[in-house]
Amino acid sequence: MKTGKIIKVSGPLVVAGGMDEANIYDMVRVGNAGLIGEIIEMRDDRASIQVYEETTGIGPGDPVVTTGEPLSIELGPGLIESMFDGIQRPLDAIEKATNSPFLKKGVSVKSLNRERLWEFVPTAKVGDIVEAGDVIGTVQETAVVLHKIMVPFGVKGAIKEIKAGEFTVIETVCVVETEKGPKDLMLMQKWPARRGRPFAKKMKPEAPMVTGQRVIDTFFPIAKGGAAAVPGPFGAGKTVVQHAIAKWGDSEIVVYVGCGERGNEMTDVVNEFPELIDPKTGESLMKRTVLIANTSNMPVAAREACIYTGITISEYFRDMGYAVSIMADSTSRWAEALREMSGRLEEMPGDEGYPAYLGSRLADYYERAGKVTCLGTDGREGSITAIGAVSPPGGDISEPVSQATLRIVKVFWGLDAQLAYKRHFPSINWLNSYSLYEDTIGTWMNQEVASDWAELRQNAMSILQEESALDEIVRLVGIEALSERDRLKLEVAKSIREDYLQQNAFHEIDTYSSLAKQYKMLKLILLFSSEAERALDAGVYLDKILKLDDVRDKVARSKYIHEDEISKMDNIAEELKAEIDTLIKVGGVQNA
Ligand code: ADP
Ligand code: MG
Repeated sequence: MKTGKIIKVSGPLVVAGGMDEANIYDMVRVGNAGLIGEIIEMRDDRASIQVYEETTGIGPGDPVVTTGEPLSIELGPGLIESMFDGIQRPLDAIEKATNSPFLKKGVSVKSLNRERLWEFVPTAKVGDIVEAGDVIGTVQETAVVLHKIMVPFGVKGAIKEIKAGEFTVIETVCVVETEKGPKDLMLMQKWPARRGRPFAKKMKPEAPMVTGQRVIDTFFPIAKGGAAAVPGPFGAGKTVVQHAIAKWGDSEIVVYVGCGERGNEMTDVVNEFPELIDPKTGESLMKRTVLIANTSNMPVAAREACIYTGITISEYFRDMGYAVSIMADSTSRWAEALREMSGRLEEMPGDEGYPAYLGSRLADYYERAGKVTCLGTDGREGSITAIGAVSPPGGDISEPVSQATLRIVKVFWGLDAQLAYKRHFPSINWLNSYSLYEDTIGTWMNQEVASDWAELRQNAMSILQEESALDEIVRLVGIEALSERDRLKLEVAKSIREDYLQQNAFHEIDTYSSLAKQYKMLKLILLFSSEAERALDAGVYLDKILKLDDVRDKVARSKYIHEDEISKMDNIAEELKAEIDTLIKVGGVQNA
């Protein structure tokens, strides 16, 4: 193979000449150490290469060799429970080998372990006609993940041979007789990271991905197969929200991409996730999680690649028919990597120095989310729900990354510095956040949870909106100017905020609320509202109603009721009605 030569080195960008045999997006080996890089621009025989490792020590004249292959992801058993860097090098293997989280430069490690044996159980048999996406067998990858071995894209024919037993990921388990001759299938397949994996059909997401976070599920729900952005300034709670969704979201596979944030956040994930016991399976959350880490102390170029690595792995599990969720924390750090490379390429800068293609690159990522009918003759369905944190400088979302993201995603959870400052968590601002899935999911909730779900939600939201208008009046003319009814509204709004929207991610019970619990809680809060109005109608003073401390306290504390005991809320409702009845009996004649 012909070798090119380095002309110039600029940080993570290397320009090489004599590269006429190479193509854009080829992976290359740079310098004598063979640093790993990827061609991101070709002009005649000149290649601009983003190098995924520190480029100190290489210089003009050093050799560059193309591998002739794009950045490809290894897909097969061994993904789950692994932690990879941005270009899918396994970090734990590196740490064990070198006692440091960094690879020796130019060392190439295989993404998937080549020695480990997996028990392959064929589900197809000799003579079966198979095509891309058909499942030929399974591997029990972890206690909770049944890894389906699928016929790779482009392969079609009759199975000539298929073997049960223990295999490494690169041993042949099945031979398919194709038009072009026999094709050996292994447990592993490869896919270029920057290209979406094919599926049969994209579908409209209808069901929610239940997160157990009340403000999300009730007010700003995300569909299974949807995309959401979480913008917020430093310390507003982006990471905590993403962790909570990873932990509690009802997806079968979690891909967590730690992108350019501080290393200790990834350490939190690595320490916490294995200890988290999944209530559904009784197993550790890691048993269904893949981690991708490119923290702020790792080379910047690999940060650009990490979200493609993450989404490719997500697609692979989607293709098996699973509901996958992918979190990226933070897409702003990713965009900064993009901006840095663009600057070094001397491209024409767009808004705030970001390249003009920022929006289309973000779309490349988010548009790979969705609910699909998978390839394969069994018509199974899978989904990817994508959630991206955005960290706009100073929290001002008029900046380019936030704006470009909001044009693509359908859910916006706007984190608010003031709420976080008041320790209202999750600090999702209920007045400016939105979900474009609200109507579809409202219909689903009415069918699956309770027929008045959407109505309750709407009532609660109107009260919150009225609160902000009333607050304005109070600021101008004082609380005395308000009618008793409006003062009641303020009380109810406060209860919705404090007893419902606020949810402590670190409290054993409060950290997760099922939809059934969310429904009962909201119903109880709104029952207080309607019962209090009934009392006002009967002539009871508001002050008397507000002094029902005991039962009001029970309403406020209903978030701490264990999932198994949510019927206790029915008793609280009865108690509330009885207390109001008593008030009406003794106090309703106050005007007489
Ligand atoms: P960001 O990623 O936006 O910088 P974090 O997610 O790290 O912010 O949150 C900062 C801090 O806010 C957390 O360490 C925690 O103390 C608090 N916090 C955020 N969300 C919650 C929550 N849901 N419950 C309790 N505390 C929270
Ligand atoms: Mg964070």
